[in-house]
Amino acid sequence: MQIYCKQCGTLLTQPLNPIPPDIELSEADGTDYVPLGYAVFEDGSFWTQHRGCWCVNKKDVRNLAVTKRAERLNGCCDLDGCDGPNLVCAQCQSEVATAKWDCWIPHAVLFESDRIILSTENTQPDNE
Ligand SMILES: [Zn+2]
Repeated sequence: MQIYCKQCGTLLTQPLNPIPPDIELSEADGTDYVPLGYAVFEDGSFWTQHRGCWCVNKKDVRNLAVTKRAERLNGCCDLDGCDGPNLVCAQCQSEVATAKWDCWIPHAVLFESDRIILSTENTQPDNE
């Protein structure tokens, strides 16, 4: 699967697979929450403010820029994403995602489900 900007169609991620149940997510501070190459559907149990978002590794995102809205850019060592979407589509500036990569939380990018299009093309078959 890949994630595109709903507004302009720009590709926003590398090809990703839904995470298999046998791969554990990393909840330790400062580590990558999602392993490279996978996407996790957030049900609100971990990222409680991001229920319904797709969560990916920060190295798997493409064509995103940090928002110019300074009030969204809080954090200790880096962006904590606690003040709303802080990443925009580099093409059309749509507020598509939230970067969480501060020191006191696991690192992840969470896409706003109503601002993206999910393509299931290029998905490799999984074990189910
Ligand atoms: Zn866009």
